[in-house]
Amino acid sequence: MAYDKNNIFAKILRGEIPCNKVYEDEWALAFHDINPQAPTHVLVIPKGPYVSMADFTAEAPADLIAGFMRAVGKTAEMLGLVDGGYRTLANAGDNAHQEVPHLHIHIFGGKALGPMLIKDWSGKL
Ligand code: AMP
Repeated sequence: MAYDKNNIFAKILRGEIPCNKVYEDEWALAFHDINPQAPTHVLVIPKGPYVSMADFTAEAPADLIAGFMRAVGKTAEMLGLVDGGYRTLANAGDNAHQEVPHLHIHIFGGKALGPMLIKDWSGKL
């Protein structure tokens, strides 16, 4: 999928739309999700035009990949989530219901988060 430079996270990175910022450095921006699914729900996005994890890991320079992953860890630490535990998740494509076509890692925490995935009603995987 080609990168859409007018997606909402690109606009946040350019400062055209506000966000509730948690952390920012040369490589990444972290901000609170507008529709939180847990007591703490923060998104971390790389500063570059990447749609998904596959796109990012294939195309981004190594220093950006390292800087982005460090920013995810640093954000979780700053949010005070390390001791109690937390979950990270990155949706990609239709099966995962990715809504925003700019790579983002969700950080969820602040309570026991339950099973990793909701089971199909039939119980089948
Ligand atoms: P995904 O389904 O993984 O693409 O998740 C997209 C996430 O972006 C959702 O959890 C939305 O609530 C969140 N989101 C959409 N627009 C904004 C925004 N302007 N600021 C913060 N979070 C947003």
